[in-house]
Amino acid sequence: MRVRAQMAMVMNLDKCIGCSTCSVTCKQTWTNRDGVEYVWFNNVETKPGVGYPTRWEDQARWKGGWKLDSKGRLRLRSGGKIRKLATIFANPDLPSLDDYYEPATYDYDSLVTAPASERMPVARPLSAITGLPMKMETGPNWDDDLGGSALYAAADPNIAAMSERVQLSFEQTFMFHLPRICEHCLNPACVASCPSGAMYKRETDGIVLVDENKCRGWRMCVSACPYKKVYLNHVTAKAEKCTFCFPRIEEGTPTVCAETCVGRLRYIGLVLYNLDAVEEAAGSSGDLVEAARSCLLDPFDETVIAQAKLDGIAEDWIAAAQRSPIWALAMKHQVALPLHPEYRTLPMVWYIPPLSPVLDATAAMGGDNTSADDVFHAVTTMRVPLDYLAQLFTAGDADLVAGVLMKLAAVRSHMRALTTGAPNTTTDRGLEAADLEELYRLLAIAKIADRFVIPAAHREEGAQLASWTSGYPLDGPGSVGMSGPVPVAVPTLARSTRRRP
Ligand code: SF4
Ligand code: SF4
Repeated sequence: MRVRAQMAMVMNLDKCIGCSTCSVTCKQTWTNRDGVEYVWFNNVETKPGVGYPTRWEDQARWKGGWKLDSKGRLRLRSGGKIRKLATIFANPDLPSLDDYYEPATYDYDSLVTAPASERMPVARPLSAITGLPMKMETGPNWDDDLGGSALYAAADPNIAAMSERVQLSFEQTFMFHLPRICEHCLNPACVASCPSGAMYKRETDGIVLVDENKCRGWRMCVSACPYKKVYLNHVTAKAEKCTFCFPRIEEGTPTVCAETCVGRLRYIGLVLYNLDAVEEAAGSSGDLVEAARSCLLDPFDETVIAQAKLDGIAEDWIAAAQRSPIWALAMKHQVALPLHPEYRTLPMVWYIPPLSPVLDATAAMGGDNTSADDVFHAVTTMRVPLDYLAQLFTAGDADLVAGVLMKLAAVRSHMRALTTGAPNTTTDRGLEAADLEELYRLLAIAKIADRFVIPAAHREEGAQLASWTSGYPLDGPGSVGMSGPVPVAVPTLARSTRRRP
């Protein structure tokens, strides 16, 4: 067993209101530059829908992630060295600008320079790439603008994998928002596919980065990432991706998207994992959610603690792993699930599936959505949206999703009983009151110190961290300008974080 530390995130989808504040603050911080106008390291999609880039989940088209070959061996779906060499100058599996969207600005000048006339002047959209007038036909969350539209939702690859009955009835049933960043996978296909060795996973905290000094712009990482979370900067011809805001994380501050999330639905913490278990888990032919969980180590286990110390993990990091909300939600209570575990990259951004659509459907079926019995009945009999959620989070295992939703419903029912004196219908379902109350504290009323348990980097690892991140263009040409003088926002936010209760 080799113990490593991984910075991870959980998002509670019940709380996402789709405001896109996270996307905007991320863009302002990292991709508000030439060459990455179309890039959203963080984007928020509306499900069911086609997402960004369009139909990114269609791996038959994009060939992202890993698959098992006929002998059960783990292979990149995008092909091995020979196919990469053959397609190095003309990679056929790349999304085009049409698959992302053509970014636009507006002709604001016409508003202030137009001569007096009877009608208000109009600011027409201009392409942010060419500067020419354009017609806006899509965007990074176009599904939201056309919420519920059959045209967009029916094109969702997850819907295509479901039964005809589900396809016909989903429109009346549900929608929810899905915020996405890079998954900082334990088995990253982007790293494995890079011919230049430019993509790498930091050993200290598992954050996946691009060394731009080594990047040659082959874009194999763009194809291989099944989540489509690596992008090409078309000015510098280098790959760029979500950095998990490593300069902030190193000083114990949450990522920009998590810090600014209006719904307070993001949790950040450390998990310890067994590096030696990664390959077997990624190549599992069984339950892929269980396989992903099998890599994570119990931070309270004495053997794990001893090995972690031998492997150079500091005591305050082990203590942080014990207080980690990711450990509590993904492992202890098992209410957080990985996104598309069938891609076999072992993603480290976990999701609590949304209960709200089930509550709406319970009421629509004539039940009482505050009654655990009625909600449990709905969860067990309703195939929508369970099948859909199963396509997203459990590689199709609807029972696993149902189990999580029942736990979430039990928390509500238990707390309702406690506060109103209503009969508690959850005690006979084998759920401990203490667990339900701990989940309530984490999911409903968690303070900032409970949501973000981020140990600062160690000063003695400074040189190592600096060498690992030296390729990231913090202040080079076309960069975000974050090195040199410390940007004001970081210490300011850090101070405000510490002040809050
Ligand atoms: S989600 Fe991130 S770490 Fe995983 S394959 Fe894609 S770019 Fe790499
Ligand atoms: S800021 Fe939070 S609530 Fe708003 S869209 Fe992003 S994840 Fe959802």
